[in-house]
Amino acid sequence: MTVEQTLLDRSGAKCELCTSTDNLAVYKIPPNSDETADQSILLCDICLGQIENPETLDANHWHCLNDSMWTPVPAVQVMAYRQLNAMKTEGWAQDLLEMLYLEDDVKSWAEAGMAESGDGIDNIDETTLDSNGATLNAGDTVTLIKDLVVKGANFTAKRGTVVKNISLTSNPKHIEGRVNGTRIVLVSAFLKKA
Ligand SMILES: [Zn+2]
Repeated sequence: MTVEQTLLDRSGAKCELCTSTDNLAVYKIPPNSDETADQSILLCDICLGQIENPETLDANHWHCLNDSMWTPVPAVQVMAYRQLNAMKTEGWAQDLLEMLYLEDDVKSWAEAGMAESGDGIDNIDETTLDSNGATLNAGDTVTLIKDLVVKGANFTAKRGTVVKNISLTSNPKHIEGRVNGTRIVLVSAFLKKA
């Protein structure tokens, strides 16, 4: 089955963001879609046009995200999250964004694309590196190389603590991970890839 056919089945032949049935096309989600259906989404020409030309963004069109953001499909969640972020000066978009819960890996994926669009201060070419200069990726396991006082959580994460299944953040100097059951931001330079 082609990617297009898979997406037509998944969506019921509708735009996966606004449910329009007109002029549907497969959109491979940047920055590095593997071109499978899992990393693509079916869009109408209106959604596609506004995603590809953010300066033409018409916030009124995107109230559709109120429904589509509740999808179980990660690719659709990613695009909903990115579009809401692009409009977060709108109160309603900000409200939806606060309700939209993404799994860590989906959130990292969503944010990877936002960094590419250049609206952040981060350099897109900057990868997250550990203390040895090894590239860190979402899902990696790392070890702390020094004791870190966790502000606000009242404990010290000891040197040698293993943090599994990390997530990247929009800042390449920081990762997120769970220590003592608490999700915290860790400085990449104090970590060693396991
Ligand atoms: Zn659409």
